[in-house]
Amino acid sequence: MKKKQFCDYCLDYRNGKYEEKMIKENIDGIEIEYLERYYICDTCGNKLYGDLYDYNISIANEKLREKTGLITIKEIEEILEKYSIGKKPLSLVLGLGEITITRYLDGQNPTKDNSILLKNILNNPLLYEMFLIANKDKITSVAYKKSMGKTKQLELSNSNSKLYNISLYILKKEKEVDALSLQKLLYYICGFSKVFSNTENLITDNSESWIYGPVFREIYEAFSYYEYKNIDYNELVKDREYELSSEEKEYVDAIIDAFGFYSGAILREMTHMTDPWIESRRGLETDSFSNRVIDNESIEKYFKKVCKDYNIKEYKDIKKYSDDMFEKAKKKLI
Ligand SMILES: [Zn+2]
Repeated sequence: MKKKQFCDYCLDYRNGKYEEKMIKENIDGIEIEYLERYYICDTCGNKLYGDLYDYNISIANEKLREKTGLITIKEIEEILEKYSIGKKPLSLVLGLGEITITRYLDGQNPTKDNSILLKNILNNPLLYEMFLIANKDKITSVAYKKSMGKTKQLELSNSNSKLYNISLYILKKEKEVDALSLQKLLYYICGFSKVFSNTENLITDNSESWIYGPVFREIYEAFSYYEYKNIDYNELVKDREYELSSEEKEYVDAIIDAFGFYSGAILREMTHMTDPWIESRRGLETDSFSNRVIDNESIEKYFKKVCKDYNIKEYKDIKKYSDDMFEKAKKKLI
């Protein structure tokens, strides 16, 4: 590959032949090694850097950062990717000047303190979440929700949360699930699981009685940036192999069969007719904010009663209940 470049020896533009070679360099007493890119002048045979000058500087600087333990540009890019945040919002979330991260990405070396902070952030989603919450008001709500979602997904995935794994299973299987319907499916999965001996301890997390029905808060935070859109399984954090046992899958499949067909609005009406939600919101207006925890005993009691009333003996019988509740919900909505 030949390209015209200015030659500092010939003092004119010359054809240069592209070459690259590993070189060692000593910068302030620190030895680094990197692949240098350059041209060889056709006329005088000297090395020319031309348009490769900036590239070499930045690669040498990146190696120097690695060697001295300063956070590298690559690692800062990893932070942006990992937490789905832009460079300006990241600066603001960390309480730095608005263009600090931009400067670091452009090649400026970070201060030692900021480098330590960024390295800790890279490896610790919980620490990042603390900064994110503390500086929530400094970034747009869209940026906040998106970044919080990714952070929660990381945390849930790292802790191998059963609730999250079930969510992933549902979202992989069913393409058209939004955040609202997912919450309702999880509520029924939690509810009926307390009746069957195989699934008794499937879900130990608590849901809360929000205006639009029962909500598992962490799952809400993980997906709320999708708002009313379907959640895209392919975009979600799946750092660990999540696996449900075949028994668990069989059970979750039965709930999807019984409830998965209905829209979020129908499912919301259906859950609004269940005692645990009604009891938990006692004394509240229909549009009153609430984060009251729905009592697990009340869930168990209600779903045991449902199974008795509808004569539900096996997973497939659950449909008797969902069909009936659908008819009731329809009447309420019309
Ligand atoms: Zn030359």
